[in-house]
Amino acid sequence: MPADLHIHSIASDGRLTPEEIVKQARNVSLSAIALTDHDTVDGIQAALEAAGSSGPEIIPGIELNTDLDGAEIHILGYYLNLGDDLTGTLAILRTARENRAKMIIAKLEQLRIRIDYEHLKRVAGRATMGRPHIARALYEAGYASSTEEAFERYLAKGKPAYVAHHRLDPFMAIETVLKAGGIPVLAHPGLAKKDELIPEFVARGLQGIEVFYPFHTPGDVARYEKICLEQGLVMTGGTDCHGPGFNYPPLGTVTVPDETARRLKYLHNRRSIEQQAGISGRTENI
Ligand code: AMP
Ligand code: FE
Ligand code: FE
Ligand code: ZN
Repeated sequence: MPADLHIHSIASDGRLTPEEIVKQARNVSLSAIALTDHDTVDGIQAALEAAGSSGPEIIPGIELNTDLDGAEIHILGYYLNLGDDLTGTLAILRTARENRAKMIIAKLEQLRIRIDYEHLKRVAGRATMGRPHIARALYEAGYASSTEEAFERYLAKGKPAYVAHHRLDPFMAIETVLKAGGIPVLAHPGLAKKDELIPEFVARGLQGIEVFYPFHTPGDVARYEKICLEQGLVMTGGTDCHGPGFNYPPLGTVTVPDETARRLKYLHNRRSIEQQAGISGRTENI
């Protein structure tokens, strides 16, 4: 049975609860799903409880949003230990996202567009705050005819209210995942088009590339498959499903074989054993 390794819930900018995601995954007979919310693992406990012993397997994951030289680079982490190693960094990222939202609101104000921060907080709820929440607030306040238009006019990179994430660069993101016992994977590299950075990411501990992705062209897939084969990286994939109201395809429509999840788990277990035995791998001195 296949696995979908890239899914967002209401813990970040998705529209489905972890429980709804588990239910949908069962409906389409997935063996494993990874919850990969932006900068948070808050949805994972609920997904684990919803899956219980009947499955699907819930892979504790994350997607860390970073910026490097103006490019948006996202790092996925799989089989994370949900402990103290993550908590501090994620708390910093949550606050940084709130401050960034305030900066975006200030830029919108210069365009005579008034979004009330309290309104935005109601839209985001307990989620890590992101541009999709601001897009929804703009739509609800009548400044855009859709969230998509809000991005096109104001929020997308290069538009007047765009603000980058400042806290993490991709190297720090890889380090954060490794410290939490996770396996770092480069998300949708076909979007950022920064292939020249891949060797440096690998040198810093990257172990996979998201090859199978809804918006990758056949040329992208072939190129990243080749890089993975040459460099011994795991080929991952998934839908990036955000639930209704987004352009991403439904859960389970882009998948990888179950063996891919087992390979990631193996890498995670091997690192844990090495660390317990005090064997210093290349990742330990970062
Ligand atoms: P942020 O983490 O605040 O930078 O927001 C990134 C998220 O915004 C992505 O994960 C997508 O869910 C969404 N997004 C990015 N670009 C667009 C776009 N052009 N249209 C709609 N949603 C977008
Ligand atoms: Fe998103
Ligand atoms: Fe992403
Ligand atoms: Zn994503």
